Amino acid sequence: MKGQRLPKIGFGTSQITGRACTDIVKTALSVGYRHIDTAQAYGNEDQVGRAIAQSNVKREDIFLTTKVWRSSLDRKGVARSTAESLDRLGTGYVDLLLVHWPNDSVPMGETLAAFAELKAAGKTRHIGVSNYTMRHLEEAVETHKADLFCDQLEYHPQLDQTALLGALRGYGLALVAYSPLGRGRLVKNPVLAAIGKKHGKTASQVALAWLARQGGVAAIPKASSEAHCRANLEVFDFALDEDDLARIATLNGKSRVWLPSWGPNWDD
Ligand code: NAP
Repeated sequence: MKGQRLPKIGFGTSQITGRACTDIVKTALSVGYRHIDTAQAYGNEDQVGRAIAQSNVKREDIFLTTKVWRSSLDRKGVARSTAESLDRLGTGYVDLLLVHWPNDSVPMGETLAAFAELKAAGKTRHIGVSNYTMRHLEEAVETHKADLFCDQLEYHPQLDQTALLGALRGYGLALVAYSPLGRGRLVKNPVLAAIGKKHGKTASQVALAWLARQGGVAAIPKASSEAHCRANLEVFDFALDEDDLARIATLNGKSRVWLPSWGPNWDD
């Protein structure tokens, strides 16, 4: 299974920019995060790079992910925009380069071939996709034989990802869970809070523990404070029991936070 060495909890950086981004990524590294998730579209690759350079953690000990935006998925765009990303990040390579969103107006084979070229050239250690539906995944793996690492998908207790998780496991790929706290919607969820109370934990910690206990799943919560950064790593010192899991299962549904106009048809 790909992603076995990927930390179960990484650090998401969307919507954190400027000095605040440099500071919080440095904090995240200092409290123990080793997977940092950014993207061309987040406008913070230079601040993430600065944080890594200023931290006491060696570059080779960090798993750094960035994503190519959907307007740069043609062959030249992938090469050019990734070179720009590496320049901003101040590194010769990323650990994982993702297609941020599928874009049916660019042949998938062209995009994935360009990604494979970057991997062969040592510009990225792994390649992967994000927001790929079942149809996209099948095309990537079965038609284009892409050597993927993961599909980064929205995943939390209110969004059922049983089918995609099953497909990813079948292909030996990881599911990297974005918006694992439902972009903050779950941090006060009463069901998760009640379970948390029993274990001396918060609703957020229950949501993250639920993801982390699943085989082939890693999560990348975003946090703006050191307290939240630390809390989100403290999810391995308790175990959800059968009763907890049954109560969390009652939340399972189709509550999707991210439905942008350019997004795929999730029933595909
Ligand atoms: P999220 O991680 O689900 O939720 C972040 C929210 O939860 C923030 O409001 C944060 O507040 C709050 N929070 C975090 N830890 C907390 C804690 N311990 N207690 C209470 N509140 C807490 O949302 P997200 O940023 O949408 O997703 C995470 C990452 O996934 C992103 O940063 C990005 O890297 C990635 N992502 C990828 C895609 C994609 O298309 N591939 C899409 C969306 C996101 P504070 O900020 O105040 O700490």
